[in-house]
Amino acid sequence: MHTYDIPLVPGPTAVSQKVLAAYQVDYGSADLEPEYFALYADTQALLRQIMSTGNQMALMSGEGMVALWGALKSCLQSGDKVLAIATGVFGYGIADLAGSIGAQVETVAFEYDEAATDLEQIESTIRRFRPKMVTLVHCETPSGIVNPAAEIGTLVRQHNVPLYYVDAVSSIGGMPVPADEWRIDLCLGGTQKAFSSLPDLGIVAVSGQAWEVIKAVDYQGYDALAPFHTALGDAYFPYTPNWHATAALYTACSLLIDEGLEAVFARHHRAAARCRERVQAMGLSLFPQDPATSAPTVTAVRVPDSASWNDLDGALRRRGMVVGGSHGPLADKVFRIGHMGMQADLDLLERGMNTLAEALNDVGL
Ligand SMILES: *Cc1c(COP(=O)(O)O)cnc(C)c1O
Repeated sequence: MHTYDIPLVPGPTAVSQKVLAAYQVDYGSADLEPEYFALYADTQALLRQIMSTGNQMALMSGEGMVALWGALKSCLQSGDKVLAIATGVFGYGIADLAGSIGAQVETVAFEYDEAATDLEQIESTIRRFRPKMVTLVHCETPSGIVNPAAEIGTLVRQHNVPLYYVDAVSSIGGMPVPADEWRIDLCLGGTQKAFSSLPDLGIVAVSGQAWEVIKAVDYQGYDALAPFHTALGDAYFPYTPNWHATAALYTACSLLIDEGLEAVFARHHRAAARCRERVQAMGLSLFPQDPATSAPTVTAVRVPDSASWNDLDGALRRRGMVVGGSHGPLADKVFRIGHMGMQADLDLLERGMNTLAEALNDVGL
């Protein structure tokens, strides 16, 4: 098995020994033991702190994508209007997912190196189109950009849009995502990003308003949210819950709460700032047009014109470091340094940046 000394992939991220230890237990049957229901409730309580919400959570087997799919299918019926705000791979992807289940989708489209800062355009489209749901990706991991989820939440509130769907998979745990204050009805997370756990659970914080819609839509399927509304109260889950994954997520959340959320967010901020400083000092360019929109969890860097991503990736791997390439139209043009979760660590980043400088040298830059 190949493991790397310097893991800087923007997910799945490195997993701590404490979180790994939570998997190393021969748990009982999660369908039967009251202890599992207590663990689920305790994990929900910690997630509520991390996401500043009183909303009820669904913890679903899968990872980020099960949350993305499940929340769309559970809330939308054929012909429902969805306004997709798209600035990157996941934003455009969510528009496609919604379209594939029959929604009438209108996209407010931005370039991949931009954030969704044109609020007037978003507002006028909400006014004209009257969507049932607005979708947004808080942090576009493939392009390292944070979108103004709070400001768009204000528009959603002002115009009484029934549902605000926010993919916060790569921001929850690395920066504040106060779901209630931002009026997020479906706040979506995954375990393998800033929680630094394995890719095994999708997390959705669901507002009261969204539960009403879910009940009316009555979607049936493995990824349906509806059963999670009553699961804890009735001690009855729609399928055998993953006790190991829940225990690991509980441990990961405890580590964040014990460190203090302000300290956790500050650690991410420092790691991101240091990463950008070092990258730019090497003569590389950041991908986001406006550096102020760069994410605290991931830095996207342009592959220099005179280099191939394949060669640079090979040189990094030979030196024991692994980062992320990118996806879709950004493949081979952008690479990404993931400083989220355990990887938001200044020592790790300094070593990573020294190794990046050496690898650039290896490929003749
Ligand atoms: C990682 C991620 C997801 C989940 O996608 P996977 O490729 O299945 O891990 C969803 N949204 C965003 C923004 C992500 O970064």
